Amino acid sequence: SKSLGHNTYCFFQTSMVANAQQQLLLLQDLRLAMERQEFDLYYQAKVDAKSGGIIGAEALLRWHHPVRGLILPDAFIPAAERSGMIVQLGAWVLGEACRQLQAWHDQGYGDMSVAVNLSGLQFGHTGLVGAVRDALQRNNLEPRHLTLEVTETVAMRDADASILILRQLNDAGVRIAIDDFGTGYSSLLYLKRLPAHELKIDRGFVRELPHNAEDAAIVSAILALGHTLNLLVVAEGVETIAQQRFLTALGCDSLQGYLFGRPLPSDQFQYILHSSLRG
Ligand code: C2E
Ligand code: CA
Ligand code: CA
Ligand code: CA
Repeated sequence: SKSLGHNTYCFFQTSMVANAQQQLLLLQDLRLAMERQEFDLYYQAKVDAKSGGIIGAEALLRWHHPVRGLILPDAFIPAAERSGMIVQLGAWVLGEACRQLQAWHDQGYGDMSVAVNLSGLQFGHTGLVGAVRDALQRNNLEPRHLTLEVTETVAMRDADASILILRQLNDAGVRIAIDDFGTGYSSLLYLKRLPAHELKIDRGFVRELPHNAEDAAIVSAILALGHTLNLLVVAEGVETIAQQRFLTALGCDSLQGYLFGRPLPSDQFQYILHSSLRG
């Protein structure tokens, strides 16, 4: 009806204005947050599928907002990306993750490695390779202990350009993981040419394992493909023992998920590290 249409229109307009205002506030808050050091990295364990031992951690960004409390990355990374602020924020993440890894190495966990997520803008930014080398050097780290995670979608957006960037990172000695694999539209031809070390199977394919036959078939196919291309295959979002058993039996190399641990502040992650390695 006419009146419903009118109301719908008003609602739509009001929410658009409210949303634009919210976005503006978010941006102002993000700028202040850098100055006020409200960002923090949480760490989630990555375990060897066969032994169950912790082999590394993925650094996940958190924002401790003074009023809104803990904010997850999906709520602010898109705005940080649109405004370009992600480049500065991403550089901080890289430096902080490397500083933390060096601290763990100093405490005797010399085999630990850390994975850092790169946004699309950061990945295409000319300063990336320099920033990576710098973070490694400043913290005296061997490059092989740092993994950079790039989503399949970002890596395939301009595949030829990505190959060049990945080659430089490869030359710098760091490891490359293709994140959220299976959600994009990879051409196998490009995948073959990508200088990467790991494929991370997207959580969406793990959620309904082992009973969902389609997901099981997709996961087996990704494993076969990854191993054919000499890539390690990691499954994310592992929440149950049934999923763990299934993925390990299929030959998954490493696993990540709430079953092994939620993302934790560095001191709590360190506590897990201490207790797991002491038996
Ligand atoms: P991602 O890289 O795919 O990271 C995995 C996400 O899944 C994390 O969400 C993690 O907390 C969550 N997760 C891990 N295990 C489980 C599980 O067993 N079940 C479920 N349901 N979820 C699990 P989080 O921390 O909210 O991060 C979301 C996304 O934000 C990340 O997805 C990544 O794309 C992005 N992100 C996080 N930190 C950074 C960063 O420092 N820089 C950039 N550019 N992006 C980041
Ligand atoms: Ca990731
Ligand atoms: Ca992922
Ligand atoms: Ca994701």
